[in-house]
Amino acid sequence: MNNAALLTRSTADIATDIARGALPRTAALDAALEVAARVRIGADGLNAVLWRDDAAARDDAASSPTGALCGIPVPVKDNIATLGLPTTCGSRMLDGYVSPFEATAVARLRAAGAIVRMKTNMDEFAMGSSTEHSAWGRTQHPLDASRVPGGSSGGSAVVVAAGVSRLALGSETGGSVRQPAAFCGIVGVKPTYGRVSRHGLVAFASSLDHIGVFGQRVDDAALGLGVIAGADPLDSTSVDTPVDDYRAAREDDRVRPLDGVVVGWPREYFPESLDPAMRAQLARALDTLRALGAEVREVSLPHTALAIPVYYIVAPAEASSNLARFDGVRYGRRIDPGQGLRGVYDATRSHGFGPEVTRRILLGTYVLSAGYYDAYYKRAMAVRRLITDDFTRAFESGVHVLFTPTTPSVAFEAGSKSDPYEMYLSDIFTVTANLAGIPAMSQPIGRIDGLPVGGQLMASHFDEATMFRVAYALERALGEEAHR
Ligand code: GLN
Repeated sequence: MNNAALLTRSTADIATDIARGALPRTAALDAALEVAARVRIGADGLNAVLWRDDAAARDDAASSPTGALCGIPVPVKDNIATLGLPTTCGSRMLDGYVSPFEATAVARLRAAGAIVRMKTNMDEFAMGSSTEHSAWGRTQHPLDASRVPGGSSGGSAVVVAAGVSRLALGSETGGSVRQPAAFCGIVGVKPTYGRVSRHGLVAFASSLDHIGVFGQRVDDAALGLGVIAGADPLDSTSVDTPVDDYRAAREDDRVRPLDGVVVGWPREYFPESLDPAMRAQLARALDTLRALGAEVREVSLPHTALAIPVYYIVAPAEASSNLARFDGVRYGRRIDPGQGLRGVYDATRSHGFGPEVTRRILLGTYVLSAGYYDAYYKRAMAVRRLITDDFTRAFESGVHVLFTPTTPSVAFEAGSKSDPYEMYLSDIFTVTANLAGIPAMSQPIGRIDGLPVGGQLMASHFDEATMFRVAYALERALGEEAHR
């Protein structure tokens, strides 16, 4: 078998074979590097990988612990702190910055035997839906260079979609794992808020931020999430509830594995304006869920239309506060025009941040300012509660998972969304799960004119296990149809 063919096997299989000595320690790494060269994963090609250290990766492979990810290279988004490689958040502000500590999720990957020596491209500070806001240039969609891969975790989505790895880490504040997963035809999972430690994830909007996983298939993502999930004393918002076996349903090949499962389809996620080709793909997936034994029920989440306005108040408000730390004194870049401390702040922040980050900081500062706080921020927080209550009511009515489109369209052309608000609307179906803190994932369900379509599953807090159970069954039943 040549190196690259190895990556047609699941992450779990490859890691098991490496751990028991049936494959060389470097087998998965050699395959990854071979594909990376062939598809040109770096700045001379897809521009999905910003920083890498292949020599260190080889050393790691030789000595990696024999855990669940033994010898598996796992690329990580550039806003997740790693020792030994830069963590720049796709920003000039952190050009060359190397963190003195490592994210808990990365430490857990390494303890399980993973090799973390590649950092992936992203929209600056995770603000965006296309990677076009990266200071290091956008990432290309692997199927069509003129299109975007989605964002902000577009680099991680592309390393998986292009076959360099079967598992990668991204981050989510409003859909940054699920949206690029949908655009690239892979699996993307955002766990429950508190399920995975945020320690070492550079903060954008702390009450919405999550670390998430990309997988080539459901099983790769389920395995990866199981490794990084669980309480962490270094993140006081991480929650100490037991981590379920997310892979429990992987071998369930019964004809009706979803007997007893109730799937809700929220009518607000299927508006009149939804592209008919997209609607047809979703209808087929819902039919498949029915055939698998699920009961499919229409439900209503009446406050859905308010999610984008609420998100674009809460997220910038928190961002304006979190990004205050980048002042030219403590981290990364410092520009000193010789006019005192104020001059350092002004020059560093004006030159360090790109236009989208600047827009969010201004917006966030405005909505938090005296006189406007009650009118905007406080109101947004009240409506956020209503959006969360919509989900609670749906799940309390007996629905186990919700099924929706992940995005309103397939991957769009680079440069086609020059109005920021147009770009914000591409997150319309994903921001709700971040506002409510519930787990959600996207998986491929078909294609339109050759471009992937994602179906989204959402479940109640800490019920990732049911979400994965449905995802495994749908993936198995759709088979190759999910990719045509
Ligand atoms: N696209 C959304 C934004 O720009 C979400 C980003 C994210 O999830 N990090 O804020």
